[in-house]
Amino acid sequence: MGSFFANIYKAIGRHSLPALVFVAGLAASGWAYVARFEHAEAQRMDQLRDAAEDYVFLLRHRLDLYAGASRDLGAFFSASNQIEAEEFAAFVNASRVFDRLDGVRALGYLPRVPSREAERFEAAASRQFPGYRITERRPGAEDYYPLLYGQHASDPARIDTLRGLDYAAAPERRTAMEEAAWRDAPTATRRMAAVRDPEQRQVILIFSPVRTPRASATPAQPEGSLRGFIFSALYLDRLFLGFDNGRMAREFDLEVYDGAVTSENVVFDADGTPHALHAKPRRLLAHSAEVQFANRRWLIYFYAKPAGVDIGSVHAAALVALLGVLLSTIASYAVAAWPRYRARKRAMHDFSERFAGFFENHPFAVYAMDAQRRFLHVNQQMAKELGVPAETLVGTEIDQYVSNEDRGEVARKFGEALRGQAVAYTTRVTDHAGRRSDMSIVLIPMSIGDRVTHVLGFAENITERKEAERALYASRQMLQLILDNIPQSVFWKNLDSVYEGGNRALLADAGLASDTELIGRTDFDLRWKGQAEHYRQVDLEVMSSGVPRMRMQGLDVRPDGTECWIETNKIPLKDDTGRVVGVLAVTEDITARKYMEQELFRRANHDPLTGLPNRGYFNSHLEQAVARAQRGGPMALMYFDIDRFKQINDTYGHDVGDDVIRMFASRVRAVVREADFLARLGGDEFVLVAEGLSGTGDGAVIAGKILAAMVPPFQLGMAALRVTTSIGVACVAPGMKPETLIKAADQAMYDAKRAGRGCFREATSPAVQPVE
Ligand code: GH3
Ligand code: MG
Repeated sequence: MGSFFANIYKAIGRHSLPALVFVAGLAASGWAYVARFEHAEAQRMDQLRDAAEDYVFLLRHRLDLYAGASRDLGAFFSASNQIEAEEFAAFVNASRVFDRLDGVRALGYLPRVPSREAERFEAAASRQFPGYRITERRPGAEDYYPLLYGQHASDPARIDTLRGLDYAAAPERRTAMEEAAWRDAPTATRRMAAVRDPEQRQVILIFSPVRTPRASATPAQPEGSLRGFIFSALYLDRLFLGFDNGRMAREFDLEVYDGAVTSENVVFDADGTPHALHAKPRRLLAHSAEVQFANRRWLIYFYAKPAGVDIGSVHAAALVALLGVLLSTIASYAVAAWPRYRARKRAMHDFSERFAGFFENHPFAVYAMDAQRRFLHVNQQMAKELGVPAETLVGTEIDQYVSNEDRGEVARKFGEALRGQAVAYTTRVTDHAGRRSDMSIVLIPMSIGDRVTHVLGFAENITERKEAERALYASRQMLQLILDNIPQSVFWKNLDSVYEGGNRALLADAGLASDTELIGRTDFDLRWKGQAEHYRQVDLEVMSSGVPRMRMQGLDVRPDGTECWIETNKIPLKDDTGRVVGVLAVTEDITARKYMEQELFRRANHDPLTGLPNRGYFNSHLEQAVARAQRGGPMALMYFDIDRFKQINDTYGHDVGDDVIRMFASRVRAVVREADFLARLGGDEFVLVAEGLSGTGDGAVIAGKILAAMVPPFQLGMAALRVTTSIGVACVAPGMKPETLIKAADQAMYDAKRAGRGCFREATSPAVQPVE
């Protein structure tokens, strides 16, 4: 080294002009060196301040979550009058407090126990926790707050060692509890050593009051009176070093004071040497902030650690400058440019590391975008959602994954985020393979100073949820479509016979435009209110018996005023436990079917030529009439037949014969009573069943009327025919069977024929005995 300097000295001596230039170069290099050093230091402080601001932002967020968790648990207890250890554990597990909130290591319930009830309380608690005792009781205390049950994040045995301890025993805890009760909000203690902890870990406790719910209020404990506390224990090292694996907290020397900067108020000191306590801290203060949390005010100081500037390399740079003006100029330029490049690289690197630490394993897709909507960072989940490796995504624009129709809206939301607002929206995203997903997105602006420099996005894939909603909607639509296509009226009512829905046919029938006009109404509000009471009775009967009523037929009036027949089926509606919850009804207009039935009956039972009942109908009618006559009231059966009808057929033809049969039938019909049953048995043979007679002589009277009806000639075209008939009359006698009566009347008719026709004969004696 010595000979090297000696050579330079010689060189300067030999060439004074180059030496001058050389000295100028040296001065320039020296100046560049100093400027570079100061600049680098200023840059480093800027970065530290940015990192510290991020840290404070996240710390505030965490502390809010801690206080919130304690408050939630307090509210959970306050909402219920009796919570058991199992429910408490279930709540803590379900809300994943210990996973989500790393600083929280223990949670517990401290019921308020008035001192006079202490023994009773101990006895009751002993049933669940044998040997339960309230420990560290304060003499003369009015109330104790002993730990009844709790959960520890990693060491369940901790709870057992603490169980029964009166938390109000220590003045610092008591002060926070009183404060929490008075403010009715989570309140934290000062820093303290964890109670009964052999490792003497530093903690703070947060107390949240638990109050009496309305349901269990008593005069002694009115609604809202204090029932106890929930406490959560925060381990300070985990709280401050917990996130980002402590990387961020290690970048600077972190000091936290409770309320004021004094040695008793230290909450946390990363290196064990509190710089803030000294008037002239040896280290540079990069940032300071104040955090409010659970009624505590924490002052946070971030000190820069000594910069690891490589002095040797600076010297080397100076030596390089000595070698020549050109070289030193280049070198000075290089040393000025290099830190800027390094600072940029380092800021990006820090952000990437932080991003990775916080969001890499986040269950949602998380991404950071610059102001041009290009990806700066994406986590694994985001890469998975878009089907593109994370490295490939960085630098590309988000727009290519947004569905065309959503792009305008997404750009607008992003603009809002750039203006400093947190925004939430849903959109459709198309991944690399063209698969579309529904995403619920939250954008959070991230700023340096007061300029939003980038935007953090959280995207939750809600495709399945949306699909399920769509499927449910589609199946409802399908059900409605099916119902509306059923031609019958379908409707359902609740247990009070109030309409809960109906299909299109029912709405049309009721003259309603939509089911909103139907739901909530009863039959008393509808077109058929006249029958409402009857319908309601049937509904209630079906629902109370649980048995369907099927094929109930009745007359009704259509909306156009025409009469109709309806058929209704009512079925009890049962839920999956079999409990009746309403009634389902299907109603159909069966008028056409009714007419068809009547027509079929008519065709089967009547004679097409005269329209009179036929032989089959007569047989069944006679049977009933004979049965009725046996209960009293004489009844006559008349058999009659047109005289010499063959001749009419032969002389005038069959058609004229038919006309004679029709005229004959209508003349008889005209002279007998409406209630008398006239039937054509076939050919020119007729019968008459006459019931409700005043005496046995009435048969002769009727026969006389029929004979008289035939006296006027039958006018057929040009011809006028004389038509006579022979009639056999038989009256029913007690115990007589229909066949016997028929035979007697038939026999009497033949008697009339033999007697010369155009007359009647009565069956001689009550033909109880068969005639043969
Ligand atoms: P009687 O005085 O003894 O009764 O003599 P009749 O000629 O009327 O003889 P009978 O009652 O035995 O004959 C009935 C005839 O009626 C037999 C058949 O040719 C005719 N006939 C049966 N059914 C019909 C029908 O539907 N239309 C017509 N035009 N003639 C029928
Ligand atoms: Mg005849």
